[in-house]
This record gives sequence, structure tokens and C-alpha cells, in this order.
Amino acid sequence: MKPLKELTRPNVWALKPYSSARDEYSGVEASVFLDANENPYNAPNNRYPDPLQGELKALIAPLKGVDVKNIFFGNGSDEAIDLVFRAFCRPGIDNVVAIDPTYGMYKVCAEVNDVEYRPILLDVYYQFKASSLLSAIDENTKAIFLCSPNNPTGNSLCRKEVESLLNRFDGLVVVDEAYIDFSDSPSMLKDLDKYPNLIVLQTFSKAWGCAAIRLGMAFASPEIIAIFNKIKYPYNVNLLTQKEAIRMLQRPEQVKEWVDTLLEERARLMKEFAQLPCCKRVFPTDANFFLAQMYEATQIYNYLVREGIIVRNRTNVALCKDCLRITIGTKEENDALLEALRKVEVE
Ligand SMILES: *Cc1c(COP(=O)(O)O)cnc(C)c1O
Repeated sequence: MKPLKELTRPNVWALKPYSSARDEYSGVEASVFLDANENPYNAPNNRYPDPLQGELKALIAPLKGVDVKNIFFGNGSDEAIDLVFRAFCRPGIDNVVAIDPTYGMYKVCAEVNDVEYRPILLDVYYQFKASSLLSAIDENTKAIFLCSPNNPTGNSLCRKEVESLLNRFDGLVVVDEAYIDFSDSPSMLKDLDKYPNLIVLQTFSKAWGCAAIRLGMAFASPEIIAIFNKIKYPYNVNLLTQKEAIRMLQRPEQVKEWVDTLLEERARLMKEFAQLPCCKRVFPTDANFFLAQMYEATQIYNYLVREGIIVRNRTNVALCKDCLRITIGTKEENDALLEALRKVEVE
């Protein structure tokens, strides 16, 4: 890996971060807080939240097998994605490489930050070769974005190629693991110490059932995390979110039960889809959704909307012609979908 200083935008490297009132006081137990121009009434919402989310990090660290210094929390993983661009990519000069198709936010954040985005088509199995991504890089390529299990294809990326990329690329490799809790493949987190250029993204939005609270996680070397902390909004994760996440972390059995149920429903729904006359092909998945190739995806999509059932039409996405992306719902929701699709006539 190149020295981090070389990968970081010079202005960010030189930046002295905003110092909030709560940053400057530390150590002693205080009880009178007259430092932050808060209203003394309306506890607890009158107080600014912990800018570095210490209590939450102390709970997540053992769960994920990492050190507190390896953790960044953001307003969704979308914040961490945006911070990769803001921290490392010089607008109008640098570029990033990504697999295609994949999650749309990498490209949106690249464009917002005026950073060239270089998508590299996956093969027909929705896999990539490290060498083909590497052939797209140049001296201004700061990061490569991977997503495993990948959205919208659902499959996990080949571990050997991911590791090959981490070994051979001298910039940052972002591995988005939003769906890792539904996957049989192990997380890259265990290899965090082995790869100083690795950034792993996870989220509370999927398996944890907390999309509304907006809490995403980035795991990386303490040096990379320190750069994120330097440029993030001081209070990027609000108190209500921190409290709700702490509450969820006290009931991990609940999350495991949801995941088990969704995996059972996923197997059932995919088996039923394979029997549907309107379904041409079901793709293997490691996530809480799957891709189904239909006879006339757009017609079926529109029909389902009229029935009050919304799926994601991915027919215009590369390598996904006539594909619908189906999120696994409750048993009742999945049954409603199947019942509607059984009525579709195919000539
Ligand atoms: C859903 C999803 C996320 C989640 O983003 P949040 O901002 O944490 O809600 C991240 N990455 C991928 C690939 C996703 O599909």
C-alpha cells in the first residue's frame, strides 16, 4: 500500500478538525455543564451526544472481534461511502474503480464529489478477476469498491480474487458487507490486521432491522478511522440512534431469529419461483433478496404494482436483463407475491 499520506487529499491531511466543547473536556467526573450553550432543561435530549459513540463502540468491538480504534459509525453506511471520496479523492483529478453491476451509491457519491467512476463489468457468474480491475487503474486510482454479497446480484464475491486485489492494489479496497449476516461466506473483518488498505462496511439497516435509525459502520486501520473522524460532522450519529442501537445490541437472539426465519423463507420462495411459468431463472444468493429472470420483467413489475406489491425492476441494469430483485418479506407477504405471480399467463 502507498503511504496513507500519499493517498489522502493534501487539504484533509493538513486539516485541524473542529473541536467541540465536549471534545476539549475529558477525564474528571463533571456534573455541571456550562460549556456547550445547551439548554439545561429537557434532559436527555438537551445535551449533544457523544461525538465518538464510546458506549456503542465498546459493545460492537467484542461482537465483531475488532478494536474500538478500528470502528467508525456513520449516518448510514452511505456516510462512510461518501467519506471515502471526501477524504481520499481529489475532485477532478482522482478516480475509483468498481465492479458493475453493484450498489448505486458508489457512483452517486463519485459524481457528487467530481471523481471519475470506472465500472468494470462482472462475468456471467457475477464474479470478477483481480487482474481485470487492476487493468483499469492508473496512478490516480485511490480506491476500488467491492460489494459482497453483491447488490443487486445477491452472490458473494470470490474470496481468492478479493484477497488478490488487496495484495496487489496499492490504494484502498472497500468491501461493502451490508448483507454479510445472511451469508455463509465469512466476513473480511478477521483479516483487518492483515490488510492495511482494507475498509469493510456493514450496517444496521438490513439484518438488524434498523434502516430507520440510520447507523452504518466502517472498519479499517486506526489511521484510516482517524481520518474519517477528522472530517465527519462532529455529531453525525444522534443520541436517539445511539440509544436504539445499544438497545438492539442487548437482544442479539432476536436478530438471529429474524435471520433464520428470512433464510428459511428465502429457500422456500426461491423454490416456488423456480416452478412459476413466468419465471425463467432464479440466481443463487447470499443475501436477503434474490434476482429472478422473468419472461417480460417490466410487464410483470407493472402488474405487481397494480396488485399493490412492489419489487425492484432491474431490467435496465448491466447483466440483469428481465430481472426482478425480490426482497424476502414475511411469510404472508411472500405468499401474496406468489399468489399474484401464479396468475400471470405466459404464451
Ligand atoms: C442497503 C445497502 C447499504 C445500506 O446503507 P445504509 O446507508 O447503511 O442504510 C449499504 N450497501 C449496500 C450494498 C446496500 O445494499
